This record gives sequence, C-alpha cells and structure tokens, in this order.
Amino acid sequence: MDFYSAETLELLCAQKNIPISEAMKERELELGGGKEAAVMEKLEIAWKIMKKSATDPIAKPERSIGGLLGGEAKKMQDYSQSGKSLCGPMLSKAMSYAMGVLEVNATMGLIVAAPTAGSSGVLPGVLLAYQQTREVSDDVIFKGMLNASAIGYLLMRNASVSGADAGCQAEVGAASAMAASALVEMEGGSVHMCFAAAAMAMSNLLGLACDPIAGLVESPCQTRNSIGVANAMTAAEMILAGIELPIPFDEMAEAMCRVGRSLPFELRETAMGGCAGTPTGCALGCKICKHS
Ligand code: SF4
Repeated sequence: MDFYSAETLELLCAQKNIPISEAMKERELELGGGKEAAVMEKLEIAWKIMKKSATDPIAKPERSIGGLLGGEAKKMQDYSQSGKSLCGPMLSKAMSYAMGVLEVNATMGLIVAAPTAGSSGVLPGVLLAYQQTREVSDDVIFKGMLNASAIGYLLMRNASVSGADAGCQAEVGAASAMAASALVEMEGGSVHMCFAAAAMAMSNLLGLACDPIAGLVESPCQTRNSIGVANAMTAAEMILAGIELPIPFDEMAEAMCRVGRSLPFELRETAMGGCAGTPTGCALGCKICKHS
C-alpha cells in the first residue's frame, strides 16, 4: 500500500476509488500492525495537543524564552472578535491559533511538529478555525490530518522539510501545502485538486528564507505561520474555484527543494541573513545572547 510520489498516490486512489486520507490510513495500518483503533488513538492524541497548543496562549499568554514572543495570539483573537477584521472570521481565527502554537513552542511547551516545530502552527490553525467555522466533527478533521500527513510524508521523502536544508519554504511552505490539501479534501475536492492546492501553496512561497532572529524559533517564525495559514486557505479556495496550476505536485516539490538548496547559507537557519541579519535583528541577537 506504499506510495512514493503524488503520481503513484493519485493512481492508487483512482484504482481503489478512495481519497488521500483513506490511502494514508491504509498505509498506517499496513506499517503499524493493522489496528485501526491504534491509528485513531494517535490521531485523537495529536488533535488534542494541537487544539490545546492553539488555544492555551490565548487564555493565558506567556513570554517566550528568548523574549521575542508573548501575547500575540491573544491580540490577534481580540482583533478578530472586534468586528474590524479585514481577513474575516475563519482566516483571522486561524492566524491567531497558528500564532498561539508558536508561542507554546517558544516556551518549550508541547506541540505537534507538522511537519516541524517552526511550522507547527499552520495545520492546527487551519483545522481548528475550519472546524469552528464549518461546524464539522472530529472525524472530518481526522480525514484532514491524514490527508495532510500524506503530503508531509511525500515532501519529507522526495524534497525537504528543513529550514536549515532548504529555507522556510520547506518548513512553512510544506505545512501550508499540507493544510491546503487537507482543506480541499474536507471540502469535497478530488485527489487531483488536493495535489494541485498543495503544489500551488508551495509555488506561492517559493524562495522563502529561513532567518530566525538570534537563531530562535520565535520571530519571524510566528508571523510566517500566519502567512502559511493564509496561503493554505487562498490556494485551497483558488483550486476549489476551478483555477489551475500548470505544474504538478511532484515537479513542484522537486523545484522547491532545488530552490531551497540554492539559497545562500545566510538564508538557511544560520541567523546571519534576512530578518536576523538586519541591524535590529543583530542587535536583538546580541542582547538575547548576553542575557542567556
Ligand atoms: S524562519 Fe526558519 S526557523 Fe523560523 S519557521 Fe521558518 S524555517 Fe523554521
């Protein structure tokens, strides 16, 4: 039941007439001893952690270890509820939740790396805001999680999900691709549309630098996660509206990896370029180092 590319997975889904989530579940069952209850239990645990990490910082904001984060998720939530949101309720909620997860990560709290700690806000942010807005059950969310896992697995296997290896496009870009595909499946889109949404999400963030200030997964990581959320939603919406991307997922994954590895080392998690390399970024880095 294993698959090695979007092309083979799409073929498999067509042969069995199943969505990506079902194919991923079958793969998990095959590799994990065949117990459906065990797969479901893992999904439930992951979902519980995702929801808690997205919402705890809104109820009780905490300052991060590096001191660059603390309280942003609550500010975002307050603005979302003020009636003044430019983005609308689903997107602004998703941004707030995604930023919350990054606050938990930056205080060494428990998160689900999806696919990494730095990009851990995108998927929970999208899924929780989707659940609350569309009023869907956890079972629908579990399908979205399985779908997203398949995309993450393919990117990990065939491209990269590491900022140090291929820039933020490989972390937040990958998370955004996972969330875009999940949204399309949960909205009833086809397997082909899921891959198209994931490819579009990747294409939109192509070349994104990894440039954490002081080398800490705090800033600009937190706001990048909210951009990952917005990118996932816009890609899913464009694909559901019938807009097409000419580049297939497998080719886009390869392109993403190639672009990432051609980024100079300053833009791959060394904290020497981009936001980290600005005078203010450097000054903050020095200040944090002196106090640690
Ligand atoms: S900037 Fe780097 S460390 Fe921060 S989220 Fe992006 S890839 Fe991860």
